[in-house]
Amino acid sequence: MSALVLGHKNPDTDSIVAALAATNLYRGRGIDVKAAAQGTPAPETAFVLERFQLTAPEVVTSVAGQELYLVDYSDLAQAPADFKEAKLLGIIDHHKLGDVTSDSPVECYIQPVGCSNTIIKTLHDYYGVKIDANLAGAMLCAILSDTVLFKSPTCTEQDKKAAEDLAKIAGVTDLQALGMEMFKAKSNLAGATPRDLIFRDFKDFDMSGHKIGIGQLELVSLDLVTPELKAQLLDELVKVKAEGRHSALLVLTDIMEEGSELLMCSDDVDKVAGALNAKLSVNMNYDGGPVAKLSVRTWLPGVMSRKKQVVPFLEQAFKA
Ligand code: MG
Ligand code: MG
Ligand code: MG
Repeated sequence: MSALVLGHKNPDTDSIVAALAATNLYRGRGIDVKAAAQGTPAPETAFVLERFQLTAPEVVTSVAGQELYLVDYSDLAQAPADFKEAKLLGIIDHHKLGDVTSDSPVECYIQPVGCSNTIIKTLHDYYGVKIDANLAGAMLCAILSDTVLFKSPTCTEQDKKAAEDLAKIAGVTDLQALGMEMFKAKSNLAGATPRDLIFRDFKDFDMSGHKIGIGQLELVSLDLVTPELKAQLLDELVKVKAEGRHSALLVLTDIMEEGSELLMCSDDVDKVAGALNAKLSVNMNYDGGPVAKLSVRTWLPGVMSRKKQVVPFLEQAFKA
C-alpha cells in the first residue's frame, strides 16, 4: 500500500498542492506514495488546479493502519481523528512545531518560510528531482497565496527565489497578474453559506487547554462582505464557539489594504482583544444565550498572517 502524503483539515492551496508536489518529490526518490487531502478544493485551489490541469488529490478522512507523510502542518488538531493509529514517516512544514509524535525516526523538513511549497521546491533541487511545467505553476500559486503576493510578513527571500524559479519552469511571466486572478477566484463568496465561509480556511488550536478556532478569508476587498453578511457571520461564530470552543474567530483580510477585520465570539473577549492589541471600537453586544458572551468586530491594521500575527500572541496570552 502506498504511503499517503496528506495536508491539513480544511485544505488550502498550499496544503493541496504540497501533497501533489511532495508526491512528485518522494516518487522521484523511489518512494511509493499517493497524494491525499482532508477535503475537496476551495474556490482558490479549484482555480489553480484547473489553470494548470492538475487533478485534486483523493479525499481521505481515516488513516488507521496507513503510513503517512504530513505536509503543511504538524498539529494533531489538524490531522484525521485516528492519526494515532497511523505510522508517521515524515513532515514538510512551515508552521510552529505541533504536537504529533512518532514511534520511529521521521524525515522532517521544517523551516520558517512563507510556504510549504518553497521547502518542497528546495528539496527537489537538493534531491535532483524534476518538476514539470504544470506542477511548477501550481507550486508558484501556492507561494503567491500563502505569502499574499509576497506581502505577508511570513515571506522570505527563499520564497521569492523559489517563486522566480518556478515561474520560469511554468512559463509564467506576470506573477502579480496570476496572483490577482487567483485572489479574485478566492474572493468569490457567492453560493457559500456563512458556515462554509468560516470553515473555508479554519484551524483549531489547543492553547493551554482552551480550544480556539480561527478562520481566515483573504479578499481583494472587504467591501465584498456586506453588513448583512457580516451580521450572519457573527451569528454563525456564536454557534461555532458553542461547539466546544473557548473562542471562535474569523479574520477577514483585505489583501489590498493590508489589514484585517476581526470578528469573534469568545468567553474572554478582553483576553483575545488584548493579545491582539485590538481596540474594540465597534462593540456589538450579543444576547445569544448562555454560551455566547459577547461578539465583537474590530480592525487590525497591518495584520495579514494568522500564523505570525495572530496565533503566537494568543498562545502567549493563554499561557499567562
Ligand atoms: Mg495551509
Ligand atoms: Mg502553508
Ligand atoms: Mg494561508
